[in-house]
Amino acid sequence: MQSVRAMVAVAAILFSLSGSSKASEVASSALTSAQQYHLRLHHLHTGGDIDVVYRVVPAGLEKLNYFLRDHRTQNESNYDPKEFDLLHALMTRLGRPDGVIDIVCGYRTPWSNNLLRRGSASSGVAEHSQHMLAKAIDIRVPGVATAKLRDAALSLHGGGVGYYPASQFVHVDVGPEREWSFGRIPRRVGRRAHGARVSSGE
Ligand SMILES: [Zn+2]
Repeated sequence: MQSVRAMVAVAAILFSLSGSSKASEVASSALTSAQQYHLRLHHLHTGGDIDVVYRVVPAGLEKLNYFLRDHRTQNESNYDPKEFDLLHALMTRLGRPDGVIDIVCGYRTPWSNNLLRRGSASSGVAEHSQHMLAKAIDIRVPGVATAKLRDAALSLHGGGVGYYPASQFVHVDVGPEREWSFGRIPRRVGRRAHGARVSSGE
């Protein structure tokens, strides 16, 4: 009888322990999620700033979609949230999880994309750009060299990474994984496939 009581007591203690550890796990994962889904952006064309938690806060995604609208036509689209996760992972990789990202270009309507393509035969803008699918963003991170930003993006294997050293930005998208450069060709990128990478990427 005594042993049964002891077992019940032990079971009760174990149950309460597992209950409390679950509660703390939930609390810590909620905290992690909020941190994970935090972004601070500055838009170089509109001059706008945004400090937002997305996913956890439903309105966050809407704010980001508006913030990243086509600045020429004012049209917005529904961004693939994985693109935002990629940006946050990138900043974490750079040791700046709460750092500001400068936005060079977000969503592009087909009209804007055509305009950019017509603007210069060597603009590096693809006909079927991931920007038109709301899966791509061109970025700069103040204080981080463009090559270092590219290397950090490549290390994540999250999609396409385009290196634009002359214009000092990096294109990151959540389309198929690929790599290209435009402008001055860096040592790490093969010259043979350079043209193809540009046309199939941006
Ligand atoms: Zn781009």
